[in-house]
Amino acid sequence: MKIEDSQNDVPDALTRKIEDSRRRLRAERPRVYEKLMQYLEAEQDPARRGMSLIDFAYGFDCNFSCEHCCTDIFKAEFGHRRMSLEQVKRVADEADALGVFVFSLIGGEPLVWTDLDDLVRTIDPSRFHVSVTTNGWLLTAECARHLASIGISKVNVSIDSGFPAEHDAFRGRNGSHARAIAAVSHSLAAGLNAQISTVVTHQNLHSEGFQRLLDLSKELDVCLDVQVATPVGKWLGKLDGLVDAADAQHLRDLRARYPLLRRDVFSTPGALGGCPAVTGSLYIIPSGDVLPCLFIHISLGNVLREPLAEIRERGLRVPELRDYSSVCLAGEQCAFFSKCMTKTFSAASLPLNYQDAFDRF
Ligand code: SF4
Ligand code: SF4
Repeated sequence: MKIEDSQNDVPDALTRKIEDSRRRLRAERPRVYEKLMQYLEAEQDPARRGMSLIDFAYGFDCNFSCEHCCTDIFKAEFGHRRMSLEQVKRVADEADALGVFVFSLIGGEPLVWTDLDDLVRTIDPSRFHVSVTTNGWLLTAECARHLASIGISKVNVSIDSGFPAEHDAFRGRNGSHARAIAAVSHSLAAGLNAQISTVVTHQNLHSEGFQRLLDLSKELDVCLDVQVATPVGKWLGKLDGLVDAADAQHLRDLRARYPLLRRDVFSTPGALGGCPAVTGSLYIIPSGDVLPCLFIHISLGNVLREPLAEIRERGLRVPELRDYSSVCLAGEQCAFFSKCMTKTFSAASLPLNYQDAFDRF
């Protein structure tokens, strides 16, 4: 499939924002820009599609306990586990060799990691865009300036509703909405790229809370990254919140009025879009297990025992992970969802081993 055949046109406002950021990247981080250009060139030929991103959960500890946490299920086993910085360096080197140009730090809550500065230095922001996904509670103006000073380039702040009461109830913390909004403003003031991340369900997609969140992202002039609900973590096996085909079309239609609305499966300038799990991105948890994505709790192998490239190749032998998918494999109906995701619902422990998840192993 060629880029021009892709299902989504990229809105002009988003194109302008992304092109601005690429110009800045070229001037400030030439090594990252070079990898981005190689990635975009390979996008022209689906058989050569390359990797762009590692989601890296250095630890699962968190200062919140949210209603929908997708990592909660791992906390008992991997709660305070960390890789050594030497191991992190090796993983980052391998990711670099695979062409990865975004290193996304997620938890848990990255801002509670006391050795965050050492971690970022080890990963090395001169060769990766290093981003942080946060609930925003600890992201003061001073913290934002500090993040910028150590080389973080982007902050994703998780917000569940445009209405403070709804968000605070979901997060179990009064005042968390106000602090999350302030975190976005502090990040922008510190020169960081900021975006809001949110999860939509079949039920809340048409709600006033989601509508208000769309307006808020427009007012703040930041992207709203939408993740559809997935049956993992505290929602393990829960199917009633999944979006259906009409909901997915509604999200596509919303782009006409909210051009900064993004989904993983939407195209960006020069990139086809589609679910990037394994083809474009991998998720690494503190045990070293490598998963297709944050929301697919199947281990493809362990990066502390075998090379990242071999683990990715193993994932690419699964046709549903290798082939282009216009839908989110973890949260929308498709062959992968019915054949593989459902096996995680009754697994004795997670992540499920790839040999138990995929027929061909
Ligand atoms: S802030 Fe994120 S990691 Fe922490 S409990 Fe909430 S959803 Fe989970
Ligand atoms: S499975 Fe869904 S959340 Fe995961 S990478 Fe694909 S589109 Fe994104």
